[in-house]
Amino acid sequence: MPASKGREPGEASAGGAAAGRTRDQVVIGVDVGGTNIRAARVGSDGRVFQRFESPSPARDQEMMVDALVAVVAEAVAAGGGRGEVRAVGLGAAGYVLHETGVVMEAPNIAWRDVPLRSVVSERAGLAVFLDNDANAAAAGEHLFGVARGVDDFVYLTLGTGIGGGIFIDGKVYRGRRGTAAELGHVTVDPTGPVCGCGRRGCLEALASGTALEREAERLVALDPGSVLHGMSGGDSPGLEGEAVARAAEEGDRAALAAFEYVSLWLGIGIVNFIHVFDPELVVLGGGMARSGHLLLDSVRRSVAEHGIGSLVRDARIELSCLGGDAGVVGAAAMAWEGIG
Ligand SMILES: [Zn+2]
Repeated sequence: MPASKGREPGEASAGGAAAGRTRDQVVIGVDVGGTNIRAARVGSDGRVFQRFESPSPARDQEMMVDALVAVVAEAVAAGGGRGEVRAVGLGAAGYVLHETGVVMEAPNIAWRDVPLRSVVSERAGLAVFLDNDANAAAAGEHLFGVARGVDDFVYLTLGTGIGGGIFIDGKVYRGRRGTAAELGHVTVDPTGPVCGCGRRGCLEALASGTALEREAERLVALDPGSVLHGMSGGDSPGLEGEAVARAAEEGDRAALAAFEYVSLWLGIGIVNFIHVFDPELVVLGGGMARSGHLLLDSVRRSVAEHGIGSLVRDARIELSCLGGDAGVVGAAAMAWEGIG
């Protein structure tokens, strides 16, 4: 089965750092999601030399492992960046038991207690470092992104759902087993909409890309004159979120109100995280963060409005600068950190 297709060598730099490491070495960073498996050959400065992608056969555990191993093998053999491959970093959606390298379960993939780290390591013949995808993305921000040099920060990935990562004293905080920082599933409104986890009013149910689309659809139904009205009812959630962002950029009332709604709740969630962790920085990543200042300005307003002034005033809130490569670059950052 041809598992993946290589893409054009991007040569996109994710930021300079980590001087002193050997230039002609790379790691393979892999973002293991429910829709796609994305991989890249990444240098020690975060530069992406070559990208690979395969659809996720997410309903079958063995096929999923085979597809993952095939993408890794293709990335190892490809040679982009010309370097020796030192290690593999895997950022996997789901609950990851860090010490044992086991994926306990994932919302959209048929993983059940898969010893993913040892399986991929044996089959690829390389050292493998595994963590939850949001922890990996946070590690990418710390090594190559907007959190470089920041030891205490909270990371949120805003997409179909909301994932979280917490850095304390320069290290990922994982909790007892590795499943800490499920920041999308803190309850912010117990009477709110039902979340993917089955509970009500999680931050994810109120402030994710899915929530943005749901709120936009509701507002558009009330406002047939809205620019968005003609765009609603599509069957591609990704495109729909982008359509909401485009309409908001054009000043559409309903789209702007939908952004205000998710920003309000996101701000309330962030207030709670700042009150608990006293971070220097809160980083917003994921697809929705690419709508930039549409989101950032109103989130900052919501935090200022709902937080305790003396606690939230000095915490910066910034957007990720790693764009669509955040997942693979984050997984690569774990591998670089893992091999020291
Ligand atoms: Zn939830």
